Amino acid sequence: MATAPTADAAPAWTPDQPIVSVRDVHKSFGGFEVLKGVSMDVKKGEAICIIGPSGSGKSTLIRCINALVEVTKGSILVEGQEVNDPKLDQLALRRKVGMVFQQYNLFPHKTALQNVMMAPINVLKQDKREVEERARKLIAKVRLTGKENSYPGELSGGQQQRVAIARSLCMRPDVMLFDEVTAALDPETVKEVLVTIRELAEEGMTCILVTHEMKFARDVADHIYFTDKGVIVEHAPPAEFFDNAKDERTKTFLGQIL
Ligand code: ADP
Ligand code: MG
Repeated sequence: MATAPTADAAPAWTPDQPIVSVRDVHKSFGGFEVLKGVSMDVKKGEAICIIGPSGSGKSTLIRCINALVEVTKGSILVEGQEVNDPKLDQLALRRKVGMVFQQYNLFPHKTALQNVMMAPINVLKQDKREVEERARKLIAKVRLTGKENSYPGELSGGQQQRVAIARSLCMRPDVMLFDEVTAALDPETVKEVLVTIRELAEEGMTCILVTHEMKFARDVADHIYFTDKGVIVEHAPPAEFFDNAKDERTKTFLGQIL
């Protein structure tokens, strides 16, 4: 006889289901509703770009995905698990969902290698030698071989941001969130960071990016979401989005920045 599922038995997630599923998410700060019912499904291996005017709720949305911000209403599932479930292991979620911010916040008194190694050793208590081997490979992957022993202050903004990406990858996440990671960089170092992200996406890492880099979004994204004032105004594959936007708000935005 089959056993009835218990109340807290989550249905098993399988990789053919969305790896991130955002369902009618609302978020208010005080009385101000910043997200007004946002839904989005991301499949494993997809690269999603979120674009939209400043203040439209992009950062809030992606911070909700790794529970840095708690939703007011709605649901967010990562690999089938509700991120706002008070019983959810926050550490497990943080490990699954890596995040890179505009400000890379490396530890200034630690070398690039030490920065990359730190969380797996201190937080996950993993074996130091194993982590170091992984960290060195990741530093090579973000094209910083030779900079292992450099301190953040000795690196360019783009190099520091690539260390921050390697640091996040060292936790072996299943999903990576990028919030305007090139917005604070000198133009000449933006490209090297975008190349790194592009390679990650091409290797099949699930990536959710907030970006103003339209050429990058067109080349790399599988799908584009356009947000305005807390709602998703439209979403489409890049060719359709850029060449055949339907909503006036999207057209106005693209007209201003393209
Ligand atoms: P975007 O990333 O699209 O520029 P944000 O998600 O950062 O937009 O912000 C959307 C709105 O929410 C803004 O008006 C912002 O001031 C407000 N907001 C964001 N975070 C907070 C917070 N922690 N407390 C109060 N208001 C916030
Ligand atoms: Mg933002």
